Amino acid sequence: MHKIEIPLDIVDVEIENVEINKEGDIIITVKSTDKDTRCHKCGRKITKLHGHDREITLRHLSILGRKVYIRIRPARYQCTHCKGNPTTTQKLTWYEPRSPHTIAYEEHVLRELVHSTVLDVSIKEDLGYEAVMGIIRRHVQTEVDWSEIERLDEIGIDEISLKKGHKDFVTIVTAHTGGNIIILAVLKGRKKSMVKAFLSSIPKRLRKTILTVCSDMYEGYINAVREVFGDDIPIVLDRFHIAKLYRKGLDELRKREMKRLKKELPKEEYKKLKGAMWILRRDIEELTDEDLEVLKWLFRYSPILELAYKLCNELTAIFDGDYSKREAERKINRWKKRVIKSGLTCFNSFLVTLDKWMDGITNYFINRQTSGFVEGFNNKIKVIKRRCYGILNVKHLFQRIHLDLEGYSFFA
Ligand SMILES: [Zn+2]
Repeated sequence: MHKIEIPLDIVDVEIENVEINKEGDIIITVKSTDKDTRCHKCGRKITKLHGHDREITLRHLSILGRKVYIRIRPARYQCTHCKGNPTTTQKLTWYEPRSPHTIAYEEHVLRELVHSTVLDVSIKEDLGYEAVMGIIRRHVQTEVDWSEIERLDEIGIDEISLKKGHKDFVTIVTAHTGGNIIILAVLKGRKKSMVKAFLSSIPKRLRKTILTVCSDMYEGYINAVREVFGDDIPIVLDRFHIAKLYRKGLDELRKREMKRLKKELPKEEYKKLKGAMWILRRDIEELTDEDLEVLKWLFRYSPILELAYKLCNELTAIFDGDYSKREAERKINRWKKRVIKSGLTCFNSFLVTLDKWMDGITNYFINRQTSGFVEGFNNKIKVIKRRCYGILNVKHLFQRIHLDLEGYSFFA
């Protein structure tokens, strides 16, 4: 058999024995070459050996698909300075006391957890669910460490529901700076007082670096921002939230029209409209030829739906355009006039929202021009929203989002 030699990647140890057990796992017995430790009482370096502790076995990085365990008997040293000559177990840099894994292995598991689930990683690594949770607990912070953050630039406040149909909301506060998203907080519920308390806790040094706050169109959030930051920091209303509102108008009209057509059209004709709901909801550039064919039939039978669809896309195009706040406001107002002139009623409630929040809505255009707003931000938030699903513990949720956003840079 050919043999290969690979480094163990653990410092200051000597390998005493390597064996493969019945399960096919590789067991590597090592001895530390460090000849001292620090007294747990006085902190002095101590070198007087006082026997060994019981042998421990630590899971390490796999080799060629085989599980690897490191076996070691930690040395114990005695202090000659302290009264009573207390003993201390030698601390080594490659594992933490009471952890059943080497640090290298725990970091590997954390990398595996990025964009994955605890259950999935537990199965792939053949590691207990609780063991994976323990690794998260030991390594991932449960709240923001302000000292690690240099600037905030843009703050995002989003509401996320954790379970379908439930009123289980959390508020996710993020910072968007230099192309990265940092998770700042996961707050239970969406009360103004809680958001306010959190925003007030941002250190002064960082508060000065906030350029804008990007928020869901929710009065509690907007008022919290106003009350903490005053009028100095512009609030930008999230364009995807806005799009959801005008698309809802289209969706309602679609439902009514489909109902009507189901009654009026022969079955065979109605069948041609299959999938219309999804097609109308999708980005127009993503549509296939078959989708466009369905739309053609649909619009032949329902001209008002075509009109509403076109108006929706026109508004989206305005948001995609590179306009100044002023130009955008003019364009949106012109769009509004076209809607009113069209006689369509499906956008009525959206028009009310538009009047109420025009300033915040058009702030989006300033923000994009001045701070290089990255569209990817909203996509990431969408991914986070999906990720949150079913994780009800807010501390754990913070850890998981933190890992997803920054895990590769921490443990790469
Ligand atoms: Zn001592």
